[in-house]
Amino acid sequence: MTADTADVPAVELSQLRFAYRAGRDVLAIEHLAIARGETVFLHGPSGSGKTTLLGLLAGVLQATSGSVKVLGTNFSTISSGSRDAFRARHLGYVFQMFNLIPYLTVRENILLPIRLDAGRRARLGTTTLDDAVADIASQLDIAELLDAPIAELSVGQQQRVAAARALIGHPEVVIADEPTSALDTDRREQFLALLFASCKKADATLVFVSHDHTLMPLFSRTVSLAEINHASVQRSRA
Ligand code: ADP
Ligand code: MG
Repeated sequence: MTADTADVPAVELSQLRFAYRAGRDVLAIEHLAIARGETVFLHGPSGSGKTTLLGLLAGVLQATSGSVKVLGTNFSTISSGSRDAFRARHLGYVFQMFNLIPYLTVRENILLPIRLDAGRRARLGTTTLDDAVADIASQLDIAELLDAPIAELSVGQQQRVAAARALIGHPEVVIADEPTSALDTDRREQFLALLFASCKKADATLVFVSHDHTLMPLFSRTVSLAEINHASVQRSRA
């Protein structure tokens, strides 16, 4: 199901349209290709469809028409179960609202992708799960919190747990939706260093949404959603 070769783009959108309600396109993008290993800073005004686009890239949402291909797999030709399996194996997603599981500990939240997919587990090689969690948790300064319930964490701590969960097992595509919004300056730098190191190690592709334009120079490429999305152009002119 995956054409996992280096010359296939990590992400390719063609003639993509997406509407939550029939006839009201949120996204209309003719073409966008992102190569393996690229780090992309995606920006655009609030409400312009950034989170929606990430949902399509993660296979959580389905295109109304056109195609979304990730690592060569066309999401509109596979079942939702196969998309879930694909996501567990190949994608790390730091959600805007974190989406941590409240009744699990920090450790179990971080381990979730590994538990869901044997291929993702295999990428850890001989590293034990305990060591993998300890390593990523110490880099994000949440090692003391591993046995804590999610409900007891601050927003900034939850954001770092969400980052650890996305990065564990070195996924090939990392998607992050305003992941630094709740972090102070030191933690933001720590988080970005880990994010870039993890992506580099896995030759991963990063699609990163942020309002913080000072971060732009860190990325290999900047994409303005307003420039590629014809739906938002039509709306703002209406
Ligand atoms: P951004 O992340 O750029 O702020 P979103 O992708 O969240 O933008 O939203 C794009 C547009 O889609 C907005 O007009 C928003 O109101 C609408 N929208 C987002 N999520 C939903 C949903 N679940 N149902 C209906 N409309 C939605
Ligand atoms: Mg958003």
